Amino acid sequence: TRFHDLNLPVELMHAIADLKYEYCSPIQAQTLPDTLQGFDVIGKGQTGTGKTAAFLITIINDFVNNPLTEERYVGEPRALIIAPTRELVVQIADDASKLLKYMDLNAVALIGGVDYDKQLKKVERQAVDIIVATPGRLLDFHKRGDLHLDMVEIMVIDEADRMLDMGFIPDVKRIISRTPKREDRQTLLFSATFTQDVLNLASQWTMDPTVVEI
Ligand code: AMP
Repeated sequence: TRFHDLNLPVELMHAIADLKYEYCSPIQAQTLPDTLQGFDVIGKGQTGTGKTAAFLITIINDFVNNPLTEERYVGEPRALIIAPTRELVVQIADDASKLLKYMDLNAVALIGGVDYDKQLKKVERQAVDIIVATPGRLLDFHKRGDLHLDMVEIMVIDEADRMLDMGFIPDVKRIISRTPKREDRQTLLFSATFTQDVLNLASQWTMDPTVVEI
């Protein structure tokens, strides 16, 4: 599958062309036809498979095709991506900025170990479209009332197996319980392995998901 065949918005295609992506990677070819239509996906894929672009392109396509008609508020992201490590969060946010290059949309990374107030400024300065975060720091923002998750349309859980291994699942559950219920959001879950624990969580968080294993 070529990106050209996916009917993506022109400003997104320009960014994809700048990154020199022409053909979809296998995980992209198997997830995008469903995720671009709003379906949930559970994807098995490690780093290096192109899963990051798969979920970012899904989010950006949705934003361009469904622009908000009402005023946007500060602290109410439309997409939320959670990942287990700071490095991964920063990498995802960096990829998001590249794909958002030609659009008036933004992504902000929230990670632990960095000054809270400094990050708060980035969230307060403007209405943020995409929040990429580690679970602990995201919960801090939610607890302090600096982020509201009621407007989340697309929720991405990246490296679910590592979140389990690192003991983050209680935090992830708390976060997901603050987003709209699964019927009212799109949920994409990626994991390098499909253990029974991962599949159990995925079945609680997604609705009729397409299961992709590569
Ligand atoms: P990821 O698995 O998301 O960490 O991506 C692995 C690497 O593949 C990143 O450096 C991406 O920039 C790159 N990449 C993702 N999708 C494509 C594609 N369709 N064609 C070429 N490179 C890609």
